[in-house]
Amino acid sequence: MSTFDYDLFVIGAGSGGVRAARMSAGFGAKVAVAEDRYLGGTCVNVGCVPKKLFVYASHFAEEFTHARSFGWQMGKSTFDWQTLLNNKNAEISRLNGIYETLLADAGVTLLDGRASLIDSHTVSIANKSFSAERILVATGSWPSVPDIPGKEHIITSNEAFFLEKLPEKVTVVGGGYIAVEFAGIFHGFGVETTLLYRGPLFLRGFDGEIRKHLAQEMRKKGIKLAFDTNIVCIEKSGQKLQAALTDGRTLSTDLIMYATGRHPNTAGIGLEEAGVTLDEEGAIIVNNDYQSSVSSIYAIGDVTNRVNLTPVATAEGTALAKALYNGETARVDYTNIPTCVFSQPNLGTVGLSEEQSREKYQHVDIYKSTFTPMKLTLTNHDEKTFMKLIVDKSTDKVIGVHMLGPDAGEIIQGIGIAIKAGATKTQFDTTIGIHPTTAEEFVTMRTAETQAG
Ligand code: FAD
Ligand code: NDP
Repeated sequence: MSTFDYDLFVIGAGSGGVRAARMSAGFGAKVAVAEDRYLGGTCVNVGCVPKKLFVYASHFAEEFTHARSFGWQMGKSTFDWQTLLNNKNAEISRLNGIYETLLADAGVTLLDGRASLIDSHTVSIANKSFSAERILVATGSWPSVPDIPGKEHIITSNEAFFLEKLPEKVTVVGGGYIAVEFAGIFHGFGVETTLLYRGPLFLRGFDGEIRKHLAQEMRKKGIKLAFDTNIVCIEKSGQKLQAALTDGRTLSTDLIMYATGRHPNTAGIGLEEAGVTLDEEGAIIVNNDYQSSVSSIYAIGDVTNRVNLTPVATAEGTALAKALYNGETARVDYTNIPTCVFSQPNLGTVGLSEEQSREKYQHVDIYKSTFTPMKLTLTNHDEKTFMKLIVDKSTDKVIGVHMLGPDAGEIIQGIGIAIKAGATKTQFDTTIGIHPTTAEEFVTMRTAETQAG
């Protein structure tokens, strides 16, 4: 008989925490999970879910103009932000309820409040303490904003999901997933949008060519991209914000949204006092079994700041529960993780970029295709889809697949399975296409445009 209140105490009911809690309870462990803000965490409340709903909503503007070229006659379309917010909020409340039911049905005790560590086996919430054989920290991350004068005037993605009204002009700062996705969202809603990034081209780390293509397409839509610049300070004058830039210009705008990365939620919860080692960014350092420097304390998801994606956090939760309570060694494979930036158009990718491939392999063949997607052929819309396959010439293995175009996320998910299975270019070539689709282009690319080595 255990002397602890719980076998496992999970701090944070987000993507990773809920999965680990539910599965561990399913394997027979006595589990509690503490949550101080919202069930489902970032992804459900202020991340993937509302973001994707906003992407859908904002894309209708283009869909309406396309429809006319297909013969549809429509009256003047108008957009009501409040309707979108109400419907989005209702959907999220529904999801919050589903998470609550999932936990209850699995027999997990849900505790409402901010948890902190007292020691390596004790957690406290509102002056009540609970002992546990193991503690799992799955507290996620929070927007990180540089300390510039006037930063009190800015918002982050957290607030963007609840704006009272849309601005006329917005400036989005940053060049990562969130900045690029929100620039597309605001623009689709008719907001005059500038994306401001400190480097020469956004989405550092992604394939160089696909980044260039995305920049081109965003500019064609009318989104202003200001690269190689940054905000020095912000002043409020009346209803306007004036941002002084490093290149000497002043930018006048209604709203400034910072999307300059996120930091792990590790401050003030007693981790270091309990002996847990953090890295210089404040992330919990874990070994291959998600165990921190204190053997009874584990961590998964964004709080470990490795691959900060929901499916990775849930995979880690699954692996940990299986290992701890079902005797399985089930480690997450971090290679070839497919991912999609829900920019407009979508940017989907799996495997290595061309730059990484050239560094790692002696000879790589590059196959590329740029074309107008069929759906746009009857319209005046000038948007190109770009697809790229990278092949290791010595083994014929496909080592990188990149796509910029509608539904790239949907397409790359399937391609991701092929890459995980180690598919060769010959196997891509002998796969019959589905006609007429955009995705069939991936199995009909015959001529290597570039041969590197
Ligand atoms: P979280 O989901 O953040 O959960 C942590 C939970 O812990 C939170 O609910 C928090 O309130 C709680 N908590 C924190 N401290 C305490 C405490 N002391 N006591 C009690 N509870 C506490 N990923 C994708 O894969 N696809 C996407 O499209 C995508 N879009 C995104 C869009 C945005 C705008 C953002 C911000 C993120 C997006 N992400 C996306 C990333 C994804 O949301 C995260 O990787 C994922 O949520 C991480 O899960 P987690 O369990 O580690 O943390
Ligand atoms: P990212 O880390 O992806 O990007 C941060 C951006 O901000 C980078 O372009 C970085 O520039 C820039 N930046 C950092 N510090 C400063 C500064 N002081 N001044 C100016 N610019 C700065 O973070 P995000 O906030 O966009 O997203 C967080 C994470 O959430 C993502 O990395 C991803 O893991 C996840 N996410 C996933 C999504 C998806 O799957 N579709 C969608 C949204 C988020 P530089 O490159 O020069 O360092």
